[in-house]
Amino acid sequence: MSPSEKLIEVHKRLLRIFGEPKVRRRTPMEVLIRTILSQNTNDNNRDRAYEQLIRKFGTFERLLDADVHEIEDAIKVGGLAKQKAAAIKRVLRWAHENYGKLDLTDICGDPDAESKLMEIKGVGVKTARVTLLFGCQADVFPIDTHIYRVFRRLGIIPWNVSREKAHELVDSMPVKGIALPLHLNVIRFGRKICNARKPQCARCPLADLCVYHSVGHT
Ligand code: SF4
Repeated sequence: MSPSEKLIEVHKRLLRIFGEPKVRRRTPMEVLIRTILSQNTNDNNRDRAYEQLIRKFGTFERLLDADVHEIEDAIKVGGLAKQKAAAIKRVLRWAHENYGKLDLTDICGDPDAESKLMEIKGVGVKTARVTLLFGCQADVFPIDTHIYRVFRRLGIIPWNVSREKAHELVDSMPVKGIALPLHLNVIRFGRKICNARKPQCARCPLADLCVYHSVGHT
């Protein structure tokens, strides 16, 4: 089975198990700031940090004008507050300089959107694509830490490929039209079954497709 065929088979099986994921609509600016806040923490802490940010500052305009230490204080629940506060400031400044407003909706539909977002220091390909997938409903596939692990274990991408290169490889596979459900369902699978430390291979619905399992790692 080729990596592309395996990817489609994984998508079909995960859809049967988890169904079509439901997603709450957010603006690209919200998605980008929430993605920055999600670094090195769990979803719960990311949500709490974002809520505290909005409760404290109310608008992105006030957030841009705020003292960076006040931002750090508001988001400390998720850790790495200093780096994240600086990154949020950079994103807001960049939006203001490029679009004259604290809103990134104009980037949706721009064919260079991904590379433009990556001009912002600290925004890599995964963060740019998450912003476009969830904030613009663009048909792009971001590879987070769970997807990277699961795809390498399954042999969809080679073991020694970098995360950046993995994005390029997956772009040559048939992800168009299935990016959003595949992205969310593989993350869910990675958290529930194929977790980093102790993958649940004995009850894995993808075990027959898995290279990692077949060579006796588990
Ligand atoms: S068999 Fe194990 S390592 Fe392979 S995908 Fe399933 S849980 Fe992950």
